[in-house]
Amino acid sequence: MQPEFRNWSRRHCCAPAAWAHPSTDDEIVALVKAANDSGRTVKVVGAGHSFSAIAMTDGVLVSLDRMDRVVSVDVQRGLVRVQAGMRLRDFNRALAEHGLSLPIVGSIAEQSLGGLVATGTHGSSLRHGNLATLIVAMRLVSGTGEVVELPEGDPRLLGARVNLGALGIVTEVTLRVESMFAVAEESVPMGFEAALAAFPAFIRDHEYAKLWWLPHTDAALLFRGDRVTEPSNISAVQRWIDEHIVNAWVFPAVLWLGNKFPSLIPPLNRVTGAVYFQRRRTVGPPASVLGLAMPPRHFEAEWAVPLAHGAEALRRVRDLAEGLRVNFILEARVVRGDDNWLSPAYGRDTIQIGTYITNPADRAAFFAGAEAIFADYGGRAHWGKENTLSRAEAERLYPRFADFRDLVGVMDPRGTLRNAVLQRLLD
Ligand SMILES: Cc1cc2nc3c(=O)[nH]c(=O)nc-3n(C[C@H](O)[C@H](O)[C@H](O)COP(=O)(O)OP(=O)(O)OC[C@H]3O[C@@H](n4cnc5c(N)ncnc54)[C@H](O)[C@@H]3O)c2cc1C
Repeated sequence: MQPEFRNWSRRHCCAPAAWAHPSTDDEIVALVKAANDSGRTVKVVGAGHSFSAIAMTDGVLVSLDRMDRVVSVDVQRGLVRVQAGMRLRDFNRALAEHGLSLPIVGSIAEQSLGGLVATGTHGSSLRHGNLATLIVAMRLVSGTGEVVELPEGDPRLLGARVNLGALGIVTEVTLRVESMFAVAEESVPMGFEAALAAFPAFIRDHEYAKLWWLPHTDAALLFRGDRVTEPSNISAVQRWIDEHIVNAWVFPAVLWLGNKFPSLIPPLNRVTGAVYFQRRRTVGPPASVLGLAMPPRHFEAEWAVPLAHGAEALRRVRDLAEGLRVNFILEARVVRGDDNWLSPAYGRDTIQIGTYITNPADRAAFFAGAEAIFADYGGRAHWGKENTLSRAEAERLYPRFADFRDLVGVMDPRGTLRNAVLQRLLD
């Protein structure tokens, strides 16, 4: 029997008909052609860190864990070619060895390059787009088993950067990177309304900025980060404690207690806010300073709305959370607008509001209520997180969705790369 597959949050699970672990493009071509011949579907999985069912399949599940090498590094031009199965943490390490860094990173580095590109993974900065905007070239194996090169300037890259895994199995990407630099990030505690009032200046005046709020409290935390020339003050011991004690044992215990006795969630959140929402200043490489210690298992949905509606949407989601029992932070991050067809930041600077929870009793109500609120502002889904978007809604929200569907029709005419999520969106 084939082993089943579960995503990181363990909410989604599937029983693939078969697993494949190719190590070359030729092996991928062969397995896609074999799937076409036998009428099976193929789905590639990265690290399985998407919260939605986007990586689930009952066809052949392809892991690119054996395609995890840096292919070439051009320090002069700041271009790095890498196999798509490489994990971001390994990529960050390899870049640092060459004195290079990504200009923007998300909260964690467990994802594969192929996966984070496919879903529009982002950090928080109005000076940088999501990570897919760093892609200048790409190679993929299409749904018919052809190797397709998308070189720099190829117009199809606009559809291929955020691709949901629908166009092909991406085997290599070339990314634009920068010389290594240090970031100083400062966290500033304040009340919720004060944080909303200060946020526009934070995102305008600082290269990196984000906002956290703890439901059932007035505790918010604003972060601002800028490039500096100071030495790192990151403590390896503190990092170890955060990762192996606080996030591995203390937070999970607090969350477990709240899940078991939801009436305890407000006081537990108040204690967490008092202990954790403190002024701190951390200096070091972007991947270490802007990235977080791996958080405890939880569920996420996240929506991208135009910047101008951010404060109103946040207030409404706060009111929704106050009527429920929500035991995780609400997070607001910003992303510079881009021109990639399926990017949540397509055509507009964007605030991406993340709704997170572990309390199983209120998860569905929280996500459904938030989705309805964000819909009022033309909210676009984060493709790697829980959402119920239909094809009709996607066509309305993403102006180039029809072009994306056309490109899917060319790259995967038989629907060999489809799964249930892609059927819901594309068929
Ligand atoms: C704890 C945690 C923190 C997170 N933090 C952030 C954050 O800060 N910012 C943010 O934006 N997101 C964040 N995410 C979401 C995460 O970045 C995305 O869901 C990302 O897609 C996961 O990458 P993955 O390699 O696990 O992809 P998977 O979940 O395995 O796959 C996602 C999609 O990508 C496709 N795919 C994977 N590899 C390829 C390939 N080689 N070719 C074509 N398609 C491919 C899959 O078929 C699937 O459709 C977080 C997730 C977790 C669990």
